[in-house]
Amino acid sequence: MLRRVNDIGAASSMRVLVRADLNAPVAGNTVADSYRLDAVLPTVKLLLAKGARVILASHMSDSSGSLAPIFEYLKTKIPLSFVDDIVGPAARAAVESLKGGNALLLQNIRHDAGEEKNDEAFAQALASLADIYVNEAFPVSHRTHASIVGVPKLIPSYAGLQFLAEVEGLTPALSPESPSLAIVGGAKFATKEKLIHTLLKKYDKLFIGGAVVNDFFKAKGFEVGRSLVSDAMHVAGLLDEPKIIMPVDVTVSSPSGRMDKDLGSVGKDDAIDDIGPKSMENLWPIIEKAKTILWNGPMGRFEDGFTRGTDDLAKMVAKSNALSIVGGGDTLSSIQNLKLMDKFTFVSTAGGAMLDFLANGTLPGIEALTKSK
Ligand code: ADP
Ligand code: MG
Repeated sequence: MLRRVNDIGAASSMRVLVRADLNAPVAGNTVADSYRLDAVLPTVKLLLAKGARVILASHMSDSSGSLAPIFEYLKTKIPLSFVDDIVGPAARAAVESLKGGNALLLQNIRHDAGEEKNDEAFAQALASLADIYVNEAFPVSHRTHASIVGVPKLIPSYAGLQFLAEVEGLTPALSPESPSLAIVGGAKFATKEKLIHTLLKKYDKLFIGGAVVNDFFKAKGFEVGRSLVSDAMHVAGLLDEPKIIMPVDVTVSSPSGRMDKDLGSVGKDDAIDDIGPKSMENLWPIIEKAKTILWNGPMGRFEDGFTRGTDDLAKMVAKSNALSIVGGGDTLSSIQNLKLMDKFTFVSTAGGAMLDFLANGTLPGIEALTKSK
């Protein structure tokens, strides 16, 4: 059982270390998309309202990047100060002088190599800044980093509101009600391999699209021309799997332009860039009857205009009465213009952590919270 941030009692002047995911895109010195920053505010505001002293810790994906631009944005939302330090004397002094109901932002925790190495001394130093720990960084909780798995060993730990929403939103996908349909697209079979095997155990049917299905086409002996395929041919064991549904037609870029082709007609100079309309028509009766639908990965190279398969799929899933769970970084960017987000039961924003959670049924960050003292 996860302890929830709401369960923390009136925390007057208690020091709470909140591991957040503040890794928002920055252009120049300004936040370009504040989505992730706004998402952590409810948990932080809840703690501030209890009178807690909140210490915010986050990484930037650029491990040498600064959180200064993030501070400039967040300070307009909450009473916040910033220290260009993580666990050194400056950070300690800043925590000392922090007043109840106020927050302090530490510098990018990946500036210290101990973070990604899950170094024990670094975890100790971080934990010693606070009395309790809150994980509000579900999208990073597949990483065995010090701030994710090290700190909860040392001080009482809780799950943040967003973290809980992800766990609760994704959990129904682990034991889907029949008839159930999983849909996997996107690219790089290797990153989806474990997930595909787990889904085959749990779901009645698995539809495969995107570049991932090119590997299946190729392994089955179909011409795939110049299509994107992975080097790893690990699909061999899956070719006779009766649960798997593959597209029957595709959209290709051919020397004479873009066109739909049946699978057997793809030429040597063609690149498969999307799945075709017949495949979508065939999928509708299954989507219509499904009680559970899980979808990850765009059906085509949407960034370059091959959006039809993904758009049609999104509309069909939105139209169905199934419990629908959708996620993946590129999946979200491929459908965000369709204004369908509120038509799905749950939309995960957790990317790789979502894939790992679905493949393994848990994450290192969840385990760490469950086992925390
Ligand atoms: P997500 O981030 O949602 O998990 P992935 O990262 O697995 O999705 O895959 C997204 C990428 O897959 C996109 O860049 C998209 O262009 C690519 N893709 C999908 N279908 C094809 C295809 N047929 N050929 C080449 N790339 C494709
Ligand atoms: Mg992606």
